[in-house]
Amino acid sequence: MALAEALPQTIDAPSGPETGGTLTIDLAAIEANWRMLCREIRTAECAAVVKANGYGLGLEAVAGKLDAAGCKTFFVADLAEARRLRATAGNAVIYVLSGFVPESGEAFIDIAARPVINSTTELAEWDAFVAQRNWRGGAALHVDTGMNRLGIPPDEAAALAPRTQTENHGITLLMSHLACAETPAHPLNAAQIRAFTELRALFRGIPASLANSSGIFLGDSAHCDMARPGAALYGVNPTPGRPNPMQAVVELTGRILQIRSVEKGTTVGYGATWTAKRAARIAVVALGYADGVPRAASGAERGERGQPGAAQIAGQSCPVVGRISMDLICLDISDLSEGVVHRGDAATFIGDGITIDDLAAAAGTIGYEVLTHLGLRCHRIYRGG
Ligand SMILES: *Cc1c(COP(=O)(O)O)cnc(C)c1O
Repeated sequence: MALAEALPQTIDAPSGPETGGTLTIDLAAIEANWRMLCREIRTAECAAVVKANGYGLGLEAVAGKLDAAGCKTFFVADLAEARRLRATAGNAVIYVLSGFVPESGEAFIDIAARPVINSTTELAEWDAFVAQRNWRGGAALHVDTGMNRLGIPPDEAAALAPRTQTENHGITLLMSHLACAETPAHPLNAAQIRAFTELRALFRGIPASLANSSGIFLGDSAHCDMARPGAALYGVNPTPGRPNPMQAVVELTGRILQIRSVEKGTTVGYGATWTAKRAARIAVVALGYADGVPRAASGAERGERGQPGAAQIAGQSCPVVGRISMDLICLDISDLSEGVVHRGDAATFIGDGITIDDLAAAAGTIGYEVLTHLGLRCHRIYRGG
């Protein structure tokens, strides 16, 4: 069997009894989140960003669910993801954010995917390619209105506009990306919305898209013809500092392998970074940074920098003690009544009141990074399919 065929087998998630962590993904909640965002933007189209393996949750499962729900347009990072998506969503419009290089031309035809054109060089190469192959598959034109990452500068885009009205570049979408949408008061939002609104007027008849998840909550002026949410679909709060309007999607639990008692003054874990200030009971959990629990959420050594990570056991919060290691995490369960927790029970790191954003905050990172690092070692359960 060719390697390309063998690979999906090798990354199949293991069965429950054969591994320590369990990741439960609620596909019905992803659909509900998509429908909620559709209502939020009313008449505009709600696409779905499923890059990075559907933000770590499984491209096929996520896109299959949203395709069946009526989502028509998807964004992925690269052609390999586009190829997987095409096998799942036969009729979907697929945009590839990383853009066009001449070597990838045939793959765009093969997959019927559309590149997001990120520079005038790419546009010239795309034009030459589509002319030579007589291909009319479409492409997005990405304009940089302030991110300064990818995209064509507004003045160059404005100069191209008259040509798109007469020649057929096959531009099917005009898009730009917000740099600070999760901070509504940031002045860059208004500046980017203004620049994009001006530009859109020059590209009459071509649909326009600006908002990511957080951008949807900036109001009508950011909605344009299509929104491109990713993180909010998967339950990350698109409005940090305010209540999360999205449903939770992910639950992450680890099996307790052992419960041990340590005396006052005993240290726990690598580097002996945590010392018991009293006689303590410790639960050792079969989950670690290799499963996507960030090592930066370790206990104690973070000192003043904030709360360490914690897990829920029997309805109570139990802090991480010592360093999170590759396969194991130690929790202080001293405050739980004797006998309520047993070897083999589950400790919940995401779910049961702990959000993706909570775990991210304990590690000094964002929910996006936590999601996309969720490992392939966990047993995966898809609910609401
Ligand atoms: C990742 C990405 C999105 C989705 O962003 P979220 O914040 O996850 O909603 C939208 N547009 C572009 C260009 C992206 O790279």
